[in-house]
Amino acid sequence: MKDIYINLKEELKHEDFIEKDYSLPVKSLDLPSEYSSDKKDLDIHLYIIKEKDGYVLSMDMKGELKVECSRCLEPFNMNIKNVSNVMITTKRPTKQNQELTQDDLMVEYIDDYEKFNLTNFVREEILIQTPIKPLCNEECKGICPICGGNKNENPCDCEKKLKRESSPFSKLKELLEKKQKKEK
Ligand SMILES: [Zn+2]
Ligand SMILES: [Zn+2]
Repeated sequence: MKDIYINLKEELKHEDFIEKDYSLPVKSLDLPSEYSSDKKDLDIHLYIIKEKDGYVLSMDMKGELKVECSRCLEPFNMNIKNVSNVMITTKRPTKQNQELTQDDLMVEYIDDYEKFNLTNFVREEILIQTPIKPLCNEECKGICPICGGNKNENPCDCEKKLKRESSPFSKLKELLEKKQKKEK
């Protein structure tokens, strides 16, 4: 599926401010396999303002994305927050124009104002906003390493059993038993 490009120069030729809506097919985002969605599209609402050194873009995403929980591996709905005030510029920072980046603005450098890759930008925003270890719930109990069951759904006592077997007392019991055998 093709990426969606915006020609910022053309779109803001006569205006200093535009609003635009896009429907981005989730498939076109080519997200890693741990992402899924029940809906086909993401709705993107953009505000773009022309500035001296580029464009300020503010993006509102609506849609449903699911991501795999890093503990139990079940997909869960992930909240995607609005992105605000991203400066799009072709002017990479040098020592002379460092004040460009002092505005609390995230900066996105592009090579050509006529080819702003929206699909790529959305993909990156989603990846950035996804925690490194996403959790369906802070309390998620994860998967039992012994029986492989989802411990949220089927609490098992595999680990308890294992602990009991390897507890210092069981070791002591073993030693005692050996000693008793020798004494016999
Ligand atoms: Zn989980
Ligand atoms: Zn288990």
